[in-house]
Amino acid sequence: MKYDCNVVKDLLPLYQDNICSSTSKDIVEEHLRECADCKKVAEQMSDGTVEKTLTVEKNHVLEKHRKNVNRKTTTIGIATAGILMIPVIVCLICNIAIGHALDWFFIVLTAMLLVASLIVVPFIVEKDRLVWVVLSATGSLLLLLLTCCIYTRGDWFFVAASGCIFGISCIFSPFVVSFFCRGEKLKNHKAVLTILWDILWLYILLVVCGIFVGGGSLYWEISMTVTTYAIILVCLFVVIIRYGRKNGWIKAGVLVILTGLWIGLSNDVMNLFIGPKTASSLKYVDLSKGFQIENQAVFNANIYFMVIAVSIFVGGILTGIGIGKDKKERKLQQ
Ligand SMILES: [Zn+2]
Repeated sequence: MKYDCNVVKDLLPLYQDNICSSTSKDIVEEHLRECADCKKVAEQMSDGTVEKTLTVEKNHVLEKHRKNVNRKTTTIGIATAGILMIPVIVCLICNIAIGHALDWFFIVLTAMLLVASLIVVPFIVEKDRLVWVVLSATGSLLLLLLTCCIYTRGDWFFVAASGCIFGISCIFSPFVVSFFCRGEKLKNHKAVLTILWDILWLYILLVVCGIFVGGGSLYWEISMTVTTYAIILVCLFVVIIRYGRKNGWIKAGVLVILTGLWIGLSNDVMNLFIGPKTASSLKYVDLSKGFQIENQAVFNANIYFMVIAVSIFVGGILTGIGIGKDKKERKLQQ
């Protein structure tokens, strides 16, 4: 053999792409006739085996790197958890030595659990970090509240717990709901499920607070009526925005009108259900008395009337624009 195999292997890519000089081409061809090894390499190059091997190798390297990073973050997470154990152990010893009982130790333990769920969990979990942090932090917060409540011999646990869950739900339930609703059927109704979950906890909070303060029938009637009235509007918002088939302008117009009506008629609706039992029943939407400023009830009623009028005006314009755009689009489609 005239030429070294390595020289030929260096030339092979240029030869395959047909961009080498005729001299190099002759050298490669002459060598390939004599050398079985290089012939094999050349064949592999032309049928794409080398490229496939490279892709496999690349993926392997990437996967290795990912695992490496994960291992590092897990190590950091475990180390942090270890550091958090120090105050727990110190408190355990102190509590036993001084109090001869484990009482306030559990407060420290659950407090550290809460810290850990906020700091350690993001390092250890690989996927859906936010959801796991929210779930574990909520769980340990409830444990902490329960421990404090038992330690102080309080009876406020359910009030605090339902309030915390409702507050956390308002912000994070969209993420948690989409985490749990991955099935085809549930996937399309995430908005409704989120709002239903939040509503459920609002009512639980109302009930728990009512029981805690020993609210009489007036508490139940007012809290339930006012809340339900407001929540029906929220539900209408979700249903119209999510399932309405009309364009955005029409939806916006309808929602503006609905909101105006809901605000403007709120006192009248409340009077209808609970008015006779409350001392100050406000006057209904009433223009017969004119725009009096001295009489607060009449003034209020007129303000509400204007809210309704303005919202119908603005909502009407938005809906009109939407219907116009809809017609234009249909014409274009034809
Ligand atoms: Zn060779």
